[in-house]
Amino acid sequence: MVLTICYLIGSITFIIGLKMLSHPASARKGNLVAAAGMAIAIVGTIFLYEEEGKKLGNYFWIFGGLAIGTVVGTLIAKKVKMTAMPEMVSLFNGMGGACAALISIIEFQHIAHHLNNNVTANYGLLISIFLGAIIGSVSFAGSMIAWGKLNGTIKDFSYNGQQFINVGLMAVILGIAGYLVFSLSLTNAYWFYIIFVVSLLYGVLFVMPIGGADMPVVISLLNSFTGVAAACGGFLYDNKVMLTGGILVGAAGTLLTILMCKAMNRSLKNVLLGSFGGNKAGAAGSKEQGSFKEIQLSDAATILAFANKVMIVPGYGLAVAQAQHTCHELEKLLEDKGVEVKYAIHPVAGRMPGHMNVLLAEADVSYDKLLEMEDANEEFRSTDVVLVLGANDVVNPAAKKDPASPIYGMPILEVEQAKNVIVNKRSMKPGYAGIENDLFFQPKTSMLFGDAKAALQKLITEIKSV
Ligand code: NDP
Repeated sequence: MVLTICYLIGSITFIIGLKMLSHPASARKGNLVAAAGMAIAIVGTIFLYEEEGKKLGNYFWIFGGLAIGTVVGTLIAKKVKMTAMPEMVSLFNGMGGACAALISIIEFQHIAHHLNNNVTANYGLLISIFLGAIIGSVSFAGSMIAWGKLNGTIKDFSYNGQQFINVGLMAVILGIAGYLVFSLSLTNAYWFYIIFVVSLLYGVLFVMPIGGADMPVVISLLNSFTGVAAACGGFLYDNKVMLTGGILVGAAGTLLTILMCKAMNRSLKNVLLGSFGGNKAGAAGSKEQGSFKEIQLSDAATILAFANKVMIVPGYGLAVAQAQHTCHELEKLLEDKGVEVKYAIHPVAGRMPGHMNVLLAEADVSYDKLLEMEDANEEFRSTDVVLVLGANDVVNPAAKKDPASPIYGMPILEVEQAKNVIVNKRSMKPGYAGIENDLFFQPKTSMLFGDAKAALQKLITEIKSV
């Protein structure tokens, strides 16, 4: 009874926490609320769970694992730089998938042992075990590749016919699993481990070719996989809180995937077949570009200070430079001078979903100054100056104009509609998708080179003296 109440508290706090996560102002508290609920559920299970009148026991292993996990998790989370957060999220997501797969392996061994002793198993149990193993290992292997790609150690890799290989592997996995489950034939246990290994391989091959600007979709998809795999564990153990947690993560991840697909103008089918990423032949570096125009700080300061309306476009470079506070300072300074300032937020700017919202919330930028892509695109026409701060792919017109570009079809912030565009970055190097940006060569665009924080600090000093 007390354990059921612990689980109920856990489930309710997950839902409240998730709701609070939907707004930057309450997100931090939401995280703590859900974590507290999880702690109650874990402690309750350790001390109150009973099977056939027996408590869990095994306290040495349980607390040993908890201690190692807590120390390692705390150290990593404390040490990680804000810019490396997306990688860490991928790594932790992978660990969730691995846990779900390991649970399935252990339970498979139990059930195989029972079946060999002619004890009947039910299909539901077997389906949960196989799904947990398959989805968990795909999520683990895929997240590890995503982790490597986000920190730059793994490069995109694609080959002809990758879709067919991926579909073939999935067919093998589902075919063998289906046969084993419905024939209840677990005597050849090694088939289960073959499924496990092929699922790991599928996870690697499925994420390997996905590159350019398409990673956000695959990251949210992998999140939802981990949730579904954990929910399978909940079914397996008839554990309500595990089930609720898994379903919430799975559902939230699926919704995010759909939103990301919409934002990137990709279909989920393409994601699942691992076929997107477009034609890399158009990837730049290759194309002849005209010349670009550089702007001096004093000129940029004057244009900004005398504008009626300024739109700031934050991107990954702003996060790298940790210039969000300086950016907020510039915003306030311009407003004091009577300039209307807003922010245009692209859904995949940065390196994780909602990255720019989190970054700007950290600097106390008012939430109602942030415009979503569609609204921002309507307002660029009436904007005097767009200040692009460390953004590149999300303002690249090739997404609209160049069918050979790997980001072709992705909706972008159409900053070139404004009267002037000032782009701050350190060099002419490309962004995440690895392609050149025509925007930098357009007559309306001026390049303000330098680290975003240093450039913003100097701009502030200049504007104060205008
Ligand atoms: P990009 O990665 O396209 O470009 C960032 C730019 O910032 C670079 O061109 C770089 O140029 C510049 N930069 C880097 N450091 C600094 C600095 N210190 N000061 C100033 N500029 C700097 O970023 P966007 O935000 O435009 O686009 C995000 C990309 O990441 C998209 O392709 C998206 O698909 C992808 N992605 C997004 C994920 C998400 O969930 N949001 C997840 C995974 C990938 P330079 O080196 O010349 O300074």
